[in-house]
Amino acid sequence: MNVYYEQDADLKHLQGKNIAVLGYGSQGHAHALNLKESGMNVCVGLRPDSSSCAQARQAGLEVNTIADAVKWADVIMVLLPDQYQKAIYEEEIAPNLVEGNTLAFAHGFNIHYKQIVPPETVNVIMIAPKSPGHLVRRTFTEGNGVPCLIAVHQDYSGDAKQQALAWAKGLGGAKAGVIETTFKDETETDLFGEQAVLCGGSAELIKAGFETLVEAGYPEELAYFECLHELKLIVDLYYEGGLSRMNYSVSDTAEYGGMTRGPRVITPAVKAEMKKILTEVQDGSFAREFIDECNSGYKNLNTLRESNTGHPIEKIGAKLRNMMSWLIKK
Ligand code: NDP
Ligand code: MG
Ligand code: MG
Repeated sequence: MNVYYEQDADLKHLQGKNIAVLGYGSQGHAHALNLKESGMNVCVGLRPDSSSCAQARQAGLEVNTIADAVKWADVIMVLLPDQYQKAIYEEEIAPNLVEGNTLAFAHGFNIHYKQIVPPETVNVIMIAPKSPGHLVRRTFTEGNGVPCLIAVHQDYSGDAKQQALAWAKGLGGAKAGVIETTFKDETETDLFGEQAVLCGGSAELIKAGFETLVEAGYPEELAYFECLHELKLIVDLYYEGGLSRMNYSVSDTAEYGGMTRGPRVITPAVKAEMKKILTEVQDGSFAREFIDECNSGYKNLNTLRESNTGHPIEKIGAKLRNMMSWLIKK
């Protein structure tokens, strides 16, 4: 793996260019503000009735329609929700792209699954901070940065990778380290991770543990604390020092019980299913399914959301979190 730092990246590959950041959400606000404060000529592209317009203007940024921002720009970073990017690209971005422009993304989905097929005469790059946008912004204001991935899908100008590195540096990411990857690897690992481990796997593990205790007659309150609340404390230990740090920090009882029982929960059959899930990501069948789902108006997603919000763990959780004065209520 190639890892790059401050000395490997030169802002001159973006300086003097017109830079459009499309979208002003989680990633958009962080990219627009960090790059502007790194000396770049930034304009934000939004729909005219966007709820984010006022915020961006208040932060001192110039705001235009998406079409006008693209017309003006040399480098266009697409930070709109992934499922809307194709339609917005076709209507407002593609007609205004010219030879030599750079089209940039923070996630590879639309390029990798060919939802967006840019002309051969533009650069196509990715700069993907490995963190939510608000942390990208906060670490920058503190003089640091978060690790970023970069990738080049098309290098028309000959310096596409240098531009991606410059972007990562302007974001603050080169202080932490910039890892070079491909659109394929970033997209496939991202989808697999959120499906099998981060979102899907962990939520089902929590629910199954909670249900097992409650069905055995234990109070929901205790089941909630053991199976959901305390998970944060464990994940913080993983995050700070890996699996060993967790095992070092918990009691010997927890360590022994976990090491002997964990493999009975995550069995070889679970791993075999993970491999199937990965295959669906690799062969594009998950992407097709999700695109159909979006086009159908989220029929399945709406039903699934309802069944999740109706789960007993959500009701008891809402009650218990009211006892936790330190939690930010949203
Ligand atoms: P958000 O949902 O936070 O961004 C929403 C922005 O897009 C808002 O400014 C919104 O403005 C605008 N928008 C939404 N719908 C439309 C539309 N139909 N037409 C025009 N503008 C629209 O997105 P994220 O920042 O989460 O994601 C952006 C990209 O970054 C994605 O590719 C994602 O995969 C990637 N990414 C995200 C990460 C994260 O931390 N969230 C981490 C790494 C990568 P409006 O007020 O008009 O709705
Ligand atoms: Mg993702
Ligand atoms: Mg315990």
